[in-house]
Amino acid sequence: MQLGYLATINQELDVEVAGKVAAELGYEVETAEVADPTAPTKFLTAESNQDKLVSRAPVVVVLGHVDHGKTSLLDAIRKTNVTAGEAGGITQHIGASRLEIKGKNIVFLDTPGHEAFTSLRARGARVTDIAVLVVAADEGVKPQTVEAVNHARAAQVPIIVAVNKMDRPGANPDRIRQQLSEYGLVSEDWGGDTIFVPVSAVKGDGIEDLLEMILLVAEMADLKANPASPARGTVVESRLDRGRGPVGTFLVQDGTLRVGDAVAVGNTSGKVRALYDDKGGKVEEVGPSTPVEVVGLSEVPQAGERFEVLSDERLARQKAAVGADQGWEKERRQSRATLDDLKRGIEEGRARELNLIVKADVQGSGEALRGALERLSAEEVRVNIVHSAIGAINESDILLAAAADAIVIGFNVRPEQGARGAAEREGVEIRLYRIIYEVIDEIQAALKGLLEPKFREATKGTATVRAVFKVSKVGTIAGSYVTEGKMTKGVSVRLIRDGVVAYEGRLDSLRRFKEDVREVAAGYECGIGLENFNDVKEGDVIEAYAMERVE
Ligand code: GDP
Repeated sequence: MQLGYLATINQELDVEVAGKVAAELGYEVETAEVADPTAPTKFLTAESNQDKLVSRAPVVVVLGHVDHGKTSLLDAIRKTNVTAGEAGGITQHIGASRLEIKGKNIVFLDTPGHEAFTSLRARGARVTDIAVLVVAADEGVKPQTVEAVNHARAAQVPIIVAVNKMDRPGANPDRIRQQLSEYGLVSEDWGGDTIFVPVSAVKGDGIEDLLEMILLVAEMADLKANPASPARGTVVESRLDRGRGPVGTFLVQDGTLRVGDAVAVGNTSGKVRALYDDKGGKVEEVGPSTPVEVVGLSEVPQAGERFEVLSDERLARQKAAVGADQGWEKERRQSRATLDDLKRGIEEGRARELNLIVKADVQGSGEALRGALERLSAEEVRVNIVHSAIGAINESDILLAAAADAIVIGFNVRPEQGARGAAEREGVEIRLYRIIYEVIDEIQAALKGLLEPKFREATKGTATVRAVFKVSKVGTIAGSYVTEGKMTKGVSVRLIRDGVVAYEGRLDSLRRFKEDVREVAAGYECGIGLENFNDVKEGDVIEAYAMERVE
């Protein structure tokens, strides 16, 4: 304290201060070399370690529309792998499982669906090598099928199509070939390069073919890792176990993980006390492309966090203190796209691509917008529509945007409740428009590096309509509950019904009980009258906003 330095007993001092304190106490301080814990860790590349690299098993995720049979397919696949002699033989649920097929391994992520897949990616983990897209033969391509295709494509993961429910009477695999070809997945039989495998998860038909195709695609991808290096990879699942404490399922992506290893995981660290494989058996060490349960961490890590083995526990703690995925994280944050950034990028000659996710209220405007935006592609900067769909902007869109470095364009739609928070967390830019030419103008200006943002919309509050009253001479009053921020008389508002903007205008009257009031804060009920609008319905959301100048 006399040195003018207020530090708690747990705080680290810099060398200079530590030296002075030590000198005061009759000691001399020596500075030792410490490995820089913020240094980004590099996965071994094929060039640098050619001789040490060996083939590794592919990691596969199953995607597709709800009820098309993702879970059933995973079950069917696991069943083919229960060999007669295997004690118990049942795979434990640890988040991922490793199967042996014809002497080769395949790792399946247990949680199907693109939300889980993309949330891992949004955190920066590149985990999956192959996506199996499940499409029910009797139902064909559905909205989530298209979403899944776009998510997989944004991740640059090869897609194998499993045409499921072939046992159903209405099964029509050719229709699926036709539909998917519209999304760029052209079947090999039709001269394309996408593998289609007809299967029935329930009957078990075609499963072997599917597994063989996975191995074939893996072989072509030539997946390599170096078992001789210290382990690193990604957390796929975690929980607090009553008896064993924090438990994480790690997917070892490179290197070998051993009992006794010091690991840094996200912001926590630990020493591996025990390892359990996906059959629940204890193991001493595991190599690349292996999911394994790890016991011995000081805290429960988060799915999607990366782990890394360090030479000792102290170093692991240091690395964890700055975040095990730090070096990488920084890189990602910097590269996250915004339209303003694009201007800088173009000026510096960095920007080559503008990735967009387009959500619109109706099919017609969505397609018009998509077409118009794609035509904006210039020689220097290509406009790339990663995903476009109808409906409110949801969390899955934000995750995809985060993973693909895209900007989300909402046309006559709004972000869902969770999506707004997710966008803030992930640093994803959402741009909302009501008029097509405004979108085109702004994107065009951005592409030319001319975008001059002046005003930005700031949400002031939201309220949910709980009841509707007709008041003679006054009109319709929306009995509302303010959920966030506040409602102010005269503020600009829009009315949102099922994620779509139904009205835009001004908040005309505001009352609490019988009193006219100027504003009502979150947590209170009030009566809201909208200017020139009487078609309020229960369940509508009123959003108050103001335009704020951006410096
Ligand atoms: P998910 O939502 O994609 O995981 O789909 P599920 O695996 O839960 O399957 C949805 C429904 O489709 C269940 O009732 C399954 O029994 C059924 N199902 C899945 N695969 C097949 C199949 O190959 N044939 C038939 N007839 N039904 C199937």
